[in-house]
Amino acid sequence: MAETAPAPVRVRFAPSPTGHTHLGSGRTALYDYLLARQTGGQFILRIEDTDRKRFVPGAEQELMDSLRWLGLQWDEGPDVGGPYGPYRQTERAEIYREHARQLVERGHAYPCFCTPERLDAMRREAEAHKLPRLYDGTCRRLDAGEAARRVGAGERHVIRFRMPREGAITARDRVRGPITVENRQLDDYVIVKSDGLALYHLAAMVDDHLMKITHVIRGSEWLPTFPLHVHIIRA
Ligand code: GLU
Repeated sequence: MAETAPAPVRVRFAPSPTGHTHLGSGRTALYDYLLARQTGGQFILRIEDTDRKRFVPGAEQELMDSLRWLGLQWDEGPDVGGPYGPYRQTERAEIYREHARQLVERGHAYPCFCTPERLDAMRREAEAHKLPRLYDGTCRRLDAGEAARRVGAGERHVIRFRMPREGAITARDRVRGPITVENRQLDDYVIVKSDGLALYHLAAMVDDHLMKITHVIRGSEWLPTFPLHVHIIRA
């Protein structure tokens, strides 16, 4: 019997332009490229440049030069365009803002007005008692109307993801199998900073969703936040 051909994938290589291109990046990009070519799918290059503190001018160009030197030409990306652009995260700030607004509206996220001083004190307290350093949920309990009023009045705030308190989440990793985590071990992560810019976790998941990414190939340093990412994608 003939084997059925695997469905075409859409994979993205999503480097942050924070320094010289290294071998590990080339390896990840190679897997993306091979899987896309093998299945007749698309290999997408997305530049994740939201972390302006670590941004290195020229790193993006070096990255593209290195990929081309390796023969790994992408089908969609910042320089070649494509139907789901722009492909540079700093050019997508409005898109993230709109998705953060929708998440708040649907109750999957909430504004948090806690000051850095309060959060620091909370963390120290948790450490002293050897408790997990999770957000204590003060602003999670605010009435939505009251929170909206404070946001409207210009009060400084971040946006946090409203992590379910009960149940567990199973993230499926093709290499390691299912990874199950109790939701109460996960934090109400900040997804938008007080300057209104999206953090990586929100930006990357909005992009994977809108760019119709079917498979994510990346380093194991992303395993700890994988369950959070599945929660965001579902929300
Ligand atoms: N921008 C992230 C990095 O360079 C990519 C992580 C991912 O593939 O989602 O590490």
